[in-house]
Amino acid sequence: MVDTLPSLTHVLNIYGLRADKKLGQHFLLDMNITDKIARQADDLEKGSVIEVGPGPGGLTRALLLGGAPYVLLIEKDTRFIPLLEDVKTAAQRNQNAYIDIHAADALTFQIPDTLPRPIKLISNLPYNVGTKLLINWLLAKPIFWSQAVLMFQKEVAERIVAVPGEKAYGRLAVLTQSLCDCHKAFDVPARAFSPPPKVDSSVVVLRPKAQGKRFSDPERLAKVTQAAFGQRRKMLRQSLKSMAASYNLDVRDWLKGCGIDPMRRAETLSIDEFQALVLALNLPLGSA
Ligand code: SAM
Repeated sequence: MVDTLPSLTHVLNIYGLRADKKLGQHFLLDMNITDKIARQADDLEKGSVIEVGPGPGGLTRALLLGGAPYVLLIEKDTRFIPLLEDVKTAAQRNQNAYIDIHAADALTFQIPDTLPRPIKLISNLPYNVGTKLLINWLLAKPIFWSQAVLMFQKEVAERIVAVPGEKAYGRLAVLTQSLCDCHKAFDVPARAFSPPPKVDSSVVVLRPKAQGKRFSDPERLAKVTQAAFGQRRKMLRQSLKSMAASYNLDVRDWLKGCGIDPMRRAETLSIDEFQALVLALNLPLGSA
């Protein structure tokens, strides 16, 4: 059984592996925490799980013990592949679970169409690519996953779930919440990792909204929010001026047409107001 494998610390010693900071390697060796992450998943025993950056495989073990029948692993650091092969053998032999191991960069990896559905994304993400991966998954066409349980550095998690008026409210919150329902499940202190990072982490749970409720033009929303929050201390009539010009719109007409005072700042706009601005860009000139 997977739970009879040697401890993670022992495995790291056997294979002589040390964390590589460049790859954001901070390992969770406490199975209570990896179990808690796995327990956030809906129906773990159905479909498949994609785990980015399994490293020594602590979370992978928790997913298998929680009943996941199919886990696709994407790990950039090839040093971990032999160790993950051991987990695969134990899972296949004793639990009838399948592990599909890929030595690859998750930023460019193509998810196979054949993956059993529903697909869940469950990972303790490397800090340096966590936000980029989330944006890729949010903008995927179609959204191929039914739930994500992802560990980010705490400050990024706060930016994902923030609401208007909060310091953390910005592009990531507007984009994510236009497409998904999301909440922060729990925090994990830096000392829980080996080696400990400089900051604490948090687990965020995301579920894509139903098709009709998902915002229809996330790419343009990403651009409008980038312009608005790129100069977040400025009034919208200034920060959105060149974006308006690129659509042959007068920035004041565009904002007022959406019921937004041009003197407001990005952090005060609701998600609905940002969406209204994007939808107005699709209207014929002069109707915004
Ligand atoms: N899941 C393990 C755990 O919880 O102990 C390790 C998590 S560690 C924070 C991040 C892992 O992601 C490392 O194993 C690292 O090698 C891997 N990684 C970093 N960049 C990656 C990338 N672009 N694609 C795939 N894996 C990556």
